[in-house]
Amino acid sequence: MPKTAVPVFTEPFVLYQSALLNTYTERVIHGFTGKPITLGGQACPPEQARANRALVCQHTGLSLNRLTLPRQTHTDQFRLNDTPCERETDAVILTETGVAAMVQVADCVPVILYEPVRHIGAVIHAGWRGTAQSITAKVAQTLFEQHQASPKHLLAVIGPSIGGCCYEVSPEVAEQVSQTIPQATASLYTSLSVNDKPKIDLKQVNALQLEALGVSQVEIIPACTLCDSERLWSHRRGEPGRQVALLELKPQ
Ligand SMILES: [Zn+2]
Repeated sequence: MPKTAVPVFTEPFVLYQSALLNTYTERVIHGFTGKPITLGGQACPPEQARANRALVCQHTGLSLNRLTLPRQTHTDQFRLNDTPCERETDAVILTETGVAAMVQVADCVPVILYEPVRHIGAVIHAGWRGTAQSITAKVAQTLFEQHQASPKHLLAVIGPSIGGCCYEVSPEVAEQVSQTIPQATASLYTSLSVNDKPKIDLKQVNALQLEALGVSQVEIIPACTLCDSERLWSHRRGEPGRQVALLELKPQ
């Protein structure tokens, strides 16, 4: 699979895109933002977040007037299309064109799904809690079972997040996360840290959850939020900023 390690642009904000989804630029707007702008977080005044959302929409072509921005609570809950702001959910399934969806992250794994034959997709926030509850697999399964998507056609992109290089967790967390995939392989545990705590690769776990459902077209964007302090916000670095994964389906 192609690997996009370099953002497509860095001014006025960093934007990563997927090589897989960039073959469908006529049909879908997508991306993963980065510094220097922040799209949320407790330290971000609402008017600043609003202005930065408008900037992102202006530079990506995303619809500001029908923008879904859920309140995320580390669950396995997801909703369909327009979700009023402040409504709790950790993923948005898009089946309508002209509806934009964003999920905020700052180490957690953002996932974008797109099925070009059915022309439907989803954005997902998967931290360790969401990953342990298999939110990515549950959303994909819903696309297959309720919206006639096919695993064969589904494209999945796993965006910038804390990498296996840096994500040190407790043995209990590592255990909960690894139980979500049939083959808990040694590659999930990249190494033991200096504190003898396991490091896990959450991106890889989300990819393996999808592969277990028959999805073979999975692209992982290798950027790590903790390694790349220049381009990406990291909660573990103590930063208050938030980046987003964004998706909108264009009219066909
Ligand atoms: Zn790293």
